[in-house]
Amino acid sequence: MAKGIWVFAEQRDAKIKKVTYELLSAGRGLADQLGEELCAVLLGKDVAGLAAALGEYGADKVYVVDNEKLAEYTCDAYVNVVADLAKANEPTAVFFGYTAVGRDLGASLAQRLATGMVSDAVSVKVDGGQLVFDRPLYAGKAFVTASCAEARPVIAAMRPNVLAINEPAAGKQAEVVNADANTGDIRQKIKEVAMAISSRPELTEANIIVSGGRGVKNAESMKLIEELADAIGAAVGCSRAVVDAGWYPQSQQVGQTGKTVSPNLYIACGISGAIQHLAGMSSSKCIVAINKDEDANIFKVADYGIVGDLFQVVPILKEELKKLLA
Ligand code: FAD
Repeated sequence: MAKGIWVFAEQRDAKIKKVTYELLSAGRGLADQLGEELCAVLLGKDVAGLAAALGEYGADKVYVVDNEKLAEYTCDAYVNVVADLAKANEPTAVFFGYTAVGRDLGASLAQRLATGMVSDAVSVKVDGGQLVFDRPLYAGKAFVTASCAEARPVIAAMRPNVLAINEPAAGKQAEVVNADANTGDIRQKIKEVAMAISSRPELTEANIIVSGGRGVKNAESMKLIEELADAIGAAVGCSRAVVDAGWYPQSQQVGQTGKTVSPNLYIACGISGAIQHLAGMSSSKCIVAINKDEDANIFKVADYGIVGDLFQVVPILKEELKKLLA
């Protein structure tokens, strides 16, 4: 069997990130078409128990590197370990989620292995024996088709929430390879990890996002957005205008300089639809826009548009959705 399609199994606090299952599901199909094995690469501390789930989601083999120094993500430790593994096993491709960790580690690994990286890809297929990716440009107005003709491994960071997850095969076991960890010199020192505590879903993994823009007028009114989100189990997002005004934290900003999201449903309230905002959300499967300006740019990408005052529309929408979900 040839060298393998690898998936970096991103986890936090010994919980596998959803994008890992998306990558394994897509990777399974690619590996089968190429006649290669599908491998997951799992790094962390006390994470060996997660290998079983990776097998059920399609991995033939799981490289586990369990080490105290990998408890928290640092670029140096992680890239040293993954680069060593890749040099020893020469995979065809290494897939990451287009997350904060995936972007950082993928780019560092590509540099270390002197290979190419496709970033923020939304689809991948095998064409003429090559992995061929699509990635959006200009907020989804254009697509680039990219492949790495010669350099190996191909490094790719796939946008979360766009690849379908296969049903797990209960009891399917992957071969587990416990690998050595040479974390090398770690220049980054983590002094403290400040976790945001929220009962809402994480923005990049949420199926539904309700986002507020400058149209909400002030910090207090973001509560309206939160109430709608809570009524339907959604995450709360916002535009940069809201962050710049100090009404909501930057961690919730959607867009070019914020998070890239692809939920099933994105409800934009009082957001004009600037290209930098669209860059982060235009691949959402269904977009609902509420804006009092019927010419607002957001309506050009919206599947459903409500022209109206959000202070009137959002409470009604919340009550109607609550009834539907009751
Ligand atoms: P506005 O453009 O001011 O729109 C407010 C909207 O609310 C208007 O359409 C108005 O009609 C509507 N409205 C007002 N009152 C109501 C009401 N009562 N009911 C209903 N509708 C109402 N922006 C991002 O969002 N994310 C990014 O990551 C990002 N990155 C950027 C990076 C760079 C390099 C630059 C230059 C800009 C970036 N921006 C980003 C900023 C972006 O250009 C816009 O300025 C910003 O998205 C505007 O936010 P907004 O839509 O909330 O505000």
